[in-house]
Amino acid sequence: MAFDSALDSAREVLRRIFGHQEFRGLQAGVIGEVLAGRSAMAVLPTGGGKSLCYQIPALVRPGLGLVVSPLIALMADQVAGLQQLGVAAARLDSNATSDERQATWRRIGEGTLDLLYVSPEGLMAGAMLERLSSRPLALVAIDEAHCVSQWGHDFRPEYRSLGRLADVFPSVPRLAVTATADARTRDDIRAELRLQGAAEFVDSFARPELQLQAERKSGGAHARVQQLVQARPDRAGVVYAGSRKATEELADRLAGVGAPALAYHAGLDKRVREDRLKRFLDEDGAVMVATIAFGMGIDKPDVRYVIHADPPASVEAYWQEVGRAGRDGQPAEGITLYGASDLAWALRRIDEREVSAEVKQVQVRKARQLYAMLDGLNCRAVAVRRYFGEEAAGACGQCDLCTSPPEAHDATKPAQMALSAVHRLGGRFGRGRVVDHLLGKTRDVQPSEAQLSTFGVGADRSAVEWRALLDQLLFDGLLREDPNDGRPLVALGDPAAVREVYRGERKVEVRAPAPPRERVRRDRQDYEKTGPLAAESPQTNGLFEALRAWRKGQAQLQSVPPYVIFHDKTLLEIAQTRPADLARLGAVSGVGQGKLDRYGTAVLEVVRGATG
Ligand code: ADP
Ligand code: ZN
Repeated sequence: MAFDSALDSAREVLRRIFGHQEFRGLQAGVIGEVLAGRSAMAVLPTGGGKSLCYQIPALVRPGLGLVVSPLIALMADQVAGLQQLGVAAARLDSNATSDERQATWRRIGEGTLDLLYVSPEGLMAGAMLERLSSRPLALVAIDEAHCVSQWGHDFRPEYRSLGRLADVFPSVPRLAVTATADARTRDDIRAELRLQGAAEFVDSFARPELQLQAERKSGGAHARVQQLVQARPDRAGVVYAGSRKATEELADRLAGVGAPALAYHAGLDKRVREDRLKRFLDEDGAVMVATIAFGMGIDKPDVRYVIHADPPASVEAYWQEVGRAGRDGQPAEGITLYGASDLAWALRRIDEREVSAEVKQVQVRKARQLYAMLDGLNCRAVAVRRYFGEEAAGACGQCDLCTSPPEAHDATKPAQMALSAVHRLGGRFGRGRVVDHLLGKTRDVQPSEAQLSTFGVGADRSAVEWRALLDQLLFDGLLREDPNDGRPLVALGDPAAVREVYRGERKVEVRAPAPPRERVRRDRQDYEKTGPLAAESPQTNGLFEALRAWRKGQAQLQSVPPYVIFHDKTLLEIAQTRPADLARLGAVSGVGQGKLDRYGTAVLEVVRGATG
């Protein structure tokens, strides 16, 4: 089959089954490579349409498409979605009953199954691999391939054994896909999965639908999260917190003010977790307050915001977590709260890990790079994309740093005072005590301290200003904080850098934090800007809501999440165009033949009902 005609059949499948007109981004390249029988690696941003890269070749090439996926929830979602489209898809995982397994194996034997989803441990253990090795395969896809790398945050030891697939299926194209992989992780994927010769497709990491913002924690971080969530009613959101306890406290707090919030972490009973996940997926506008145990494989397309109540571990983790918002390509927000003590804790935890010095060094660098982005002065999207190697990225124009550039002013002199105070105090005190010292307000001060030349030198500045400056020095590595089990101590940081500041060879800049009232105003504006229906007429809104209500009924009837029936984006397009017949409805993106047959008449009735 010539390349062009192979791609033509792929496009035909894209249109007929998935209801999309054209390939997006690098999809055509990846699919063309696999259709030509060659292995490939694809790094496409979240929402970039990774799944079509293996689903379509599985349908076009003869044989079964085998998909290795790390999470049952992810598999369940994809299989349900494919079945809605009329595709013969199934999964073999630990949740399947023995009857279901038998039925699936029968279909595999008959050659009537197009796609089979399996977990890495399921595939490599027992007889599964051997049974499959005698079947003709269209391709082997390895989803979330970054899990193979020990540098990343999602490392899964089972993924390492997948290299064996190269021996078992020597003539089957293998495709590794992921949304996040810096150059080093990509090298790991290649080496571990034995994809040395494979073509590499790496798309831009840009996510233009995401509006990013970050702010230093000031006082009650949970109160701030509550404010942010309350300013975004009826939106599905994810709030990430650093500990199990914090997720429960926050969820209670939010539920207490009427937000549909649920806590989620690995310490909860499996059934409770599954139940909450289901509620989050099924209900419009639910808020999941979770540790990072909740994440990979959450394919809910209409998450409108991700709030980090505590910062993530690295820029990769940030991009992946924030990236769970706006998968449907509609505007969404990523909001991060962070503080100097979070950085101190992160460094401490890395130090305590039982890994090689080399791995520690990499992780420390990654943590510092994250805080440099969070606390930076230039476009956040640019900082992230540079991190992934996109040197030429242009400013996004919509993050908080682009829309209201912070005012930075020179604070080298007060920085010298603060450094010198910390030096004289000998690293024995915490931040509050250093500020008191600078202000000359230390309670019950010892004569030896009151005699120091730095005592009271900063009385002309407020405590707030000093705290912000100390934070800045901590972020810049000029000071470091020892968490000291919750009673942190501040000491001098990198000696060479400190010397430069003393000598006036290095400047220290601080920025003024936005006053609280300003922040609340901004919350409202951000909310309105990213509303799904920001610019729509009341008629369109009305029909959109009617379609959502119909969808909800359908979803309940079939026990699937609403977005498996139609995405918001598709419903919105239907509401805008008000198709009068099946042909026009079929032209809407996301309405393929299968869905047209199933739901076409019912949808037209809803449209007619709203018009009449
Ligand atoms: P990823 O796994 O890369 O995050 P998905 O494969 O889940 O992304 O696709 C994200 C969304 O984009 C889905 O709603 C999918 O239907 C849609 N999509 C994928 N490819 C196309 C395309 N070529 N045209 C229009 N929509 C597409
Ligand atoms: Zn920007």
